[in-house]
Amino acid sequence: MDLQAILKNLENCPCGRKHSFDLKVYEADRGLVHKVGEILKKAEFPKKIYIVTDENAFRVSEGILESLADFDYEIKIYPDMRYAYLSTSREIMEAAKDFDGILSIGTGSVNDVCRYAAAQANKAFAIFATAPSMDGFASDSAPLIENNFKISYACRQPSVVIADTEILAASPTELKAAGYGDILGKYVGIVDWKVANYTIGEYYCENIVNMVRKAVADVVAMTDKITACDPDAAKAVLDSLILTGCAMQLAKSSRPASGSEHVVSHYWEIHKLEKGIWPDFHGKKVGLATLLVVRIYKQLLAYKSIEPHKENLDLEDVFKHYSPANRDEIIGYNVPNPTDEIDFASFKAHWNDVLDSIENDLPDADKLYDMMVKAGCVTELADANLSPEFALEALRYSPYMRRRITLLRIIHMLGIEEDLIKL
Ligand SMILES: [Zn+2]
Ligand SMILES: [Zn+2]
Repeated sequence: MDLQAILKNLENCPCGRKHSFDLKVYEADRGLVHKVGEILKKAEFPKKIYIVTDENAFRVSEGILESLADFDYEIKIYPDMRYAYLSTSREIMEAAKDFDGILSIGTGSVNDVCRYAAAQANKAFAIFATAPSMDGFASDSAPLIENNFKISYACRQPSVVIADTEILAASPTELKAAGYGDILGKYVGIVDWKVANYTIGEYYCENIVNMVRKAVADVVAMTDKITACDPDAAKAVLDSLILTGCAMQLAKSSRPASGSEHVVSHYWEIHKLEKGIWPDFHGKKVGLATLLVVRIYKQLLAYKSIEPHKENLDLEDVFKHYSPANRDEIIGYNVPNPTDEIDFASFKAHWNDVLDSIENDLPDADKLYDMMVKAGCVTELADANLSPEFALEALRYSPYMRRRITLLRIIHMLGIEEDLIKL
């Protein structure tokens, strides 16, 4: 992927913002596990590196250490890292003290804890990706767990991301389908970003949206090949996951890559964590949440006009759906009420544009369902260990765990009698 060409295309962007990102090198191809050292050297990555991985990721990356023979490294292999704890990140920060760079080998959690450690300790950061499972590779933030609550911490993008497409292709179908599901979430993200722009004048960039649209289309074109051991399909998914990560940094916001579906997924996650239950793969939940949200948003096409009104927020009712330990965070996200900033006249005037986006930016819900089945994604609540009650609760109450406007956050403020939040 030509990163420089992407930046060149966005020079003098009409949105008025100067777009840039930190990612210098992204290479994904067959056999690259044997060339990691060579690529890092060419990218002028430091020679003294602390390597962090987990047992699964390390097992599939055979040959990587041999490729790093010229490097002065120490390696830490964690047991299967399913959770990204802030405490692990601090541990890495301390252990990497005397090194100049951190190389993370793996996917989601391993990269997240390393990303934060590298940013905090001001170390160079590189990733060797082992599965195309989620959109965090090129992200400049890391969602980390503390007190069973997930908070997104500002970080820096890695400067180098390398992937061996044969390793990606051989990764479990569940992980590849999760990456596909994470990409589907971008459909909803685009609609929500537009709504934030129409309601509170939040910054928006059409060029970035077009970049995300293309990234999604490239993955959707591979739908039939996701479950196969196909290096080209796996590369297409990773390319798009990297691209949408870059889009977040270009916009200096997670808007281009995440909308209400990501928040719904995070709601499921924190409540499962609280109960000590494995919350499942990020992209698996995001895909399923996307399907639920698309079904809800599509119902709005029946309403050609709206009479939006202010929200009477019952914070006590919101508290009932969160742990008392998270009370302060919930207050921070909702007081003062972010919906108080909504310009109702502008929103009403743009309602046709919202409908247009729901019609054209979102796929038809049945079509989306079929695509997900073909790509091996989970489409039923039970298959993600979610009860209908819990799914509904997330659709209603998750928007209060972020300080951001989404269509799902304000759907009860549109002056529509019918309760559209249903399964
Ligand atoms: Zn722009
Ligand atoms: Zn995601």
